[in-house]
Amino acid sequence: MVANDPDVLSMTPEELEKWMAEIGEPRFRGRQLFEWLWQHGAPSYEDITVWHKSLRTSMASRVPLKRLTAEKVQLAQDGTTKLLLRLHDGNRVETVLLPHPYGYSVCVSSQVGCNMGCHFCASGILGKKRNLSAGEMLDQVRYANQILGKRGQKVSRVDLMGIGEPLDNYDAMVKFLHLLHHPLSFQLSYRHVTVSTSGLVPAIYRLADEEMPVTLAVSLHAPTDPLRLRLMPVNKAYPLSQLIGACRYYGETTGRRVTFEYLMLDGINDSLDNARELVDLVHDFSCHVNLIPWNPVAEHPFKPSPMARVRQFQQLVQDRGISCTIRKELGQEIDAACGQLRRREEEIVR
Ligand code: SF4
Repeated sequence: MVANDPDVLSMTPEELEKWMAEIGEPRFRGRQLFEWLWQHGAPSYEDITVWHKSLRTSMASRVPLKRLTAEKVQLAQDGTTKLLLRLHDGNRVETVLLPHPYGYSVCVSSQVGCNMGCHFCASGILGKKRNLSAGEMLDQVRYANQILGKRGQKVSRVDLMGIGEPLDNYDAMVKFLHLLHHPLSFQLSYRHVTVSTSGLVPAIYRLADEEMPVTLAVSLHAPTDPLRLRLMPVNKAYPLSQLIGACRYYGETTGRRVTFEYLMLDGINDSLDNARELVDLVHDFSCHVNLIPWNPVAEHPFKPSPMARVRQFQQLVQDRGISCTIRKELGQEIDAACGQLRRREEEIVR
């Protein structure tokens, strides 16, 4: 923590208490600040009504609150809501609210852009500009809750599946999970959180040992090394044998079933032979396979698999005793694929 310019949004109640004492305020003000930032969702110090006016004013001039602001909001007929949020330095990230029978999930970004270079992804096209702080990730949840509050709803699940590779921003991600779970903020059970990764093996082992039993979702997308390497450069550093070993360890250590995400790309990875190879790869431990219909990105040559083939693929995997679903497409009339909205805006301003 930098004493004269602390990142207030990324601090725990204990860190805020210590900081308040350092600047001559009663320690309890730190806990109060945390509670008002997250449980009450105060947009600014001015909204912390338990503070006297002079404290609100002095805090605003001493440490500006770097809340995210919405630059664009797209609402689909099914309730899916896509936000383009502006960070304090002018960078932008996307956050998506998705309706489900149980309530809303929010898809949170972890980086501005991404360096993993997956060949099917809109977010990787512009590369990574910087990591997000824990507070910037948490503020996406706060913003989502603010919108959902107007619909009489609130965030029920959080998926770190937006722009970025969360495990490439490990420390901030773990702090975000801790703050999200805190009883004075959103109090979200780790079981209602999913962390998605392209397959950074050492970080999967680390996360398994954090005692934060979140769901791990691995972007697999191919059942063999040569094919996966064509789609995901990360497979060069961490081939499938290492990745599956890490996933097995994650499942055994946390007791959580690992999810494998599998994009269905016409003529690339969607044959029944590919389905058999997938079964051979993951059949001996508790996992779930989620088939994802491809959402076209102009710069990428892939085409979506016909739905009949997606269903055949699903049937074969299920027949071998592996849980397998097809992801329902939500918000199709808006820029629904990860990174599309931000990329479009970046293109407009360039
Ligand atoms: S799919 Fe995920 S990890 Fe791969 S480039 Fe896109 S944001 Fe990064």
